[in-house]
Amino acid sequence: MEEVDCVVVGAGVVGLAVARELALAGREVLVLEAAEGIGTATSSRNSEVIHAGIYYPKDSLMARFCVAGKRMLYAYCAERGVPHRNCGKLIVATNEEEQGKLASIQARAAANGVPDLALLDAAEARALEPAISCVAALNSPSTGIIDSHAYMLALQGDAENAGTVFVFHSPVTGGRLLPEGGAELSVGGAEPMELRCRLLINAAGLHAPRLAGSLAGMPAEHVPPTFYAKGNYFTLTGRSPFTRLIYPVPVPGGLGTHLTIDLGGQARFGPDVEWVEQIAYEVDPHRGEGFYAAIRRYWPELPDGALQPGYSGIRPKIVGPGVAAQDFVVQGPDTHGRPGLVNLFGIESPGLTASLALGEHVRRMALGG
Ligand SMILES: Cc1cc2nc3c(=O)[nH]c(=O)nc-3n(C[C@H](O)[C@H](O)[C@H](O)COP(=O)(O)OP(=O)(O)OC[C@H]3O[C@@H](n4cnc5c(N)ncnc54)[C@H](O)[C@@H]3O)c2cc1C
Repeated sequence: MEEVDCVVVGAGVVGLAVARELALAGREVLVLEAAEGIGTATSSRNSEVIHAGIYYPKDSLMARFCVAGKRMLYAYCAERGVPHRNCGKLIVATNEEEQGKLASIQARAAANGVPDLALLDAAEARALEPAISCVAALNSPSTGIIDSHAYMLALQGDAENAGTVFVFHSPVTGGRLLPEGGAELSVGGAEPMELRCRLLINAAGLHAPRLAGSLAGMPAEHVPPTFYAKGNYFTLTGRSPFTRLIYPVPVPGGLGTHLTIDLGGQARFGPDVEWVEQIAYEVDPHRGEGFYAAIRRYWPELPDGALQPGYSGIRPKIVGPGVAAQDFVVQGPDTHGRPGLVNLFGIESPGLTASLALGEHVRRMALGG
């Protein structure tokens, strides 16, 4: 049986950030990835937004790792030449009731360590974004956008330079946890193998609960259920009328139909929320019909027929519809009682923004320090 010090399962942005951290700490790291390359799942099916850290409950892991991860990510992008833009974002209120909610959003952000939201009146908002229709807005200057693939390539490069080996087409199909720590793993693919590791990091995204459940010795009560909440995007034909990201005031259970732009200037609306049973990424064109009215509340000039089905991503949920949002779960031996195992569950948004902070946290949890 092959033996290796640390195995990271999953080469999405979180697995990559963890592998980089462990390798930079001097550990031998093997990344096992079922797909043909890095970042083919949720990490390439998102909004590519560097989130400020505004809405999350105070002291939640999402709030802490988003705010810390944002700072780390901007510094990393600057240092490594990863394309990104600190474009900012407006949260727009389109009536008095929504306007009344802006102060509490601003207070929540400040409590999370995001003290720089500025309250704008309609004229000030229009001075920044002439196409916007609103009664008031919050300007979030620290929000940005990133080329997520370039970022993941940089993480992979760092990890490889520090000795990490990536093996693709290598799904982990099961295994058993060892009493002394770590695990024996069965790896499928063209050349199936068994291998033993001292430290196992489960960063398998949508499949993380299933992977944990397939490890003999993993306490079943610490394996969360799996739910999938698909997010569909519709792209805008033609030029974006906005240079900042535009978000309505959040509605219960979601962020509302918002506009994000990519570094190429392409604007898209979404993601919406569609609970699904299977992983399938086709976008139903009919779902776009509801987008028009929602968008015209803050951009009345949206032309008829301007939206095209774009792409979708699936949120790795561990709670079902109607349940209050779940925080990130980074589960180590203190919780599940098995040495040499860290599971990452429910790493939905802002997982991209938080990735470097998550990597650091997992390294501390696994190696101490
Ligand atoms: C619609 C949507 C929009 C989002 N927008 C943003 C945003 O704008 N900003 C932001 O910060 N975050 C955003 N997020 C969140 C962010 O995309 C995720 O948190 C992040 O990509 C999760 O990365 P990951 O590495 O955990 O998972 P993944 O990218 O899903 O990677 C998991 C990897 O594990 C592999 N794998 C699974 N099982 C196995 C196995 N058994 N053996 C081997 N390999 C396996 C998979 O093939 C995959 O490559 C968004 C998410 C969604 C769904």
